[in-house]
Amino acid sequence: MSDIEEHRKKIEEITLEMIKLLKTRTDIAKQIGDAKASLGMTVTDEEREDALRTQVTKLCKEIDLDQSTALKFLNLLLNESVKVQSDGKQTHLSVFLKAKALEEKGKKIIHLEVGEPDFKPPLSVKTALGEVYDKGYGKYGPAKGITELRKGLAGWTNGQFEKYVALNLDQENIMVCPGARFAVYLAITTLLNPGDEIIVIEPAWPAYKDCALNAGIKVRTIKTTLETRWEPSIDQINNAINENTKMIVLNYPNNPTGKTLPEKLLDSIMQTAKEHDLYVLSDEIYEDYYSGPGNVEGESPKEILTYRYEKSIITKSFSKSFAMTGFRIGYAIAEPSIIEKMSKLQALSLTNVSEPIQYVALQVIDSAFEAVQENAETIGARLEILVESAKDIGLEFVEPDGAMYLFAKTKYKNFDATKFSEKLLEHGVAIAPGEGFGDYKEFFRITAIDETRLKEGMIILDTVLKESYE
Ligand code: PMP
Repeated sequence: MSDIEEHRKKIEEITLEMIKLLKTRTDIAKQIGDAKASLGMTVTDEEREDALRTQVTKLCKEIDLDQSTALKFLNLLLNESVKVQSDGKQTHLSVFLKAKALEEKGKKIIHLEVGEPDFKPPLSVKTALGEVYDKGYGKYGPAKGITELRKGLAGWTNGQFEKYVALNLDQENIMVCPGARFAVYLAITTLLNPGDEIIVIEPAWPAYKDCALNAGIKVRTIKTTLETRWEPSIDQINNAINENTKMIVLNYPNNPTGKTLPEKLLDSIMQTAKEHDLYVLSDEIYEDYYSGPGNVEGESPKEILTYRYEKSIITKSFSKSFAMTGFRIGYAIAEPSIIEKMSKLQALSLTNVSEPIQYVALQVIDSAFEAVQENAETIGARLEILVESAKDIGLEFVEPDGAMYLFAKTKYKNFDATKFSEKLLEHGVAIAPGEGFGDYKEFFRITAIDETRLKEGMIILDTVLKESYE
């Protein structure tokens, strides 16, 4: 056998051996996952992961192996463990599916778990849908979106900010996506590489973590607490950054807490991101649903676009502001080079967003400013009712500044929100268990729906709570 053949044979043997070891490692990770679940422990243990990272770094020095490759490999292994250990976690989506199945059997359910406005889209949507056919919108189109809409969105965004800063966005800064969810997926998947790390501040909408796991990207979670008003400290963020860290995700007003961040803290986070050359993915889907204190009296808090940081990606949507969840349309705002990268995967996976829906969106931004205001007022009023009702029944929470949720716990020790949500569902009320948003088993999220059903739901919640824990 020639030398090369011999080496190839060895490489094959080593690779197969590594796959077998991976199987053994995955089986053990599963066993650890079962043990953690029965002990009520969290899946990710950052301290243990750090300890292992230190050992790997030390070993790399001893055996003279490139550290960054080894750490990326370690991240892939850690991700596999998180994946096998996260199976079976209850999220707002799994509760929603269970609730739907019950409804199909004829049970009446009050949906306090879904994040969906229950009112109609603006009337201009109806008119625009009628026009689509005659105007001939129904062809394949550019992956980044139709020019009129991209221009329209750039202009609309410039207009929103002109009082504070000249953004000068143009169509090259905009990519139309089928919902903010897909924009988030594209940003994480195309801007980062397997083994890179992303910082997610929890509690968080689960998709950031899931997208990262799906793409082999390691998630560093920053746990925030009710006691610290769901605000991360800058030290927590700095401590989570290492040479593989490439992105930090922000989502304010936040799902599930409804919180925004104080301006100074946001300034420091942005400063840190710049110093470490991180992408900032800012998911601003709830930007219009804001009722808390602003940086300028009566106005919304400082927005990421005003920092004019070239590595930021802002995701926005028609889903909440215009109550158009089922239309599946949103967009990303970023530098053209970033949009270019994201659009390649969109072209590959979708060709383009439905042209008729893009036409509808264009008509909406031209005509529906008042509709957004009205929707925001409706949601704000409902949030107030939810806050009052939650106070009345003794729930513990930080008052939301916006979005459409309340993230609360009860006064009861050892309260398990996942078990409680299952029980509550039997009584016809669906809520979102906190474990879907991170390590928050004692919390649950309630959506601010219309007053009558919200109040009815809260009475049932209170009754079941007292029956179960008093
Ligand atoms: N981001 C956050 C924080 C959300 O809560 C949601 C939906 N619940 C989305 C993005 C997805 O929005 P879209 O319908 O635009 O995909």
